[in-house]
Amino acid sequence: MFILHCPHCAEAREEEEFSNAGEAFIVRPATPDSASDAEWGDYVFMRKNSKGWHWEQWLHAAGCRKVVVVKRHTATHEIAGCWTLAEGKRLYLQEEA
Ligand SMILES: [Zn+2]
Repeated sequence: MFILHCPHCAEAREEEEFSNAGEAFIVRPATPDSASDAEWGDYVFMRKNSKGWHWEQWLHAAGCRKVVVVKRHTATHEIAGCWTLAEGKRLYLQEEA
């Protein structure tokens, strides 16, 4: 179990209040009308599932019901931070650049 800080509620809450919605910031095919079945398959089903730091989306299901972006270490469950979608995306893009 770990503690997540909801940026919308401004409270630190137990993991059980949240529902993991999977990997954050998955890139949709740039040209959806001409994307192949393989490209759609990758977009819908394929995930990194890596060991280490991972950007995830969590839904504060037992709280405000808003989405929270969490950077979590998948092996240690250490939390680097929790942000709104806009804040998290900005930090993610800075990290990826
Ligand atoms: Zn909340």
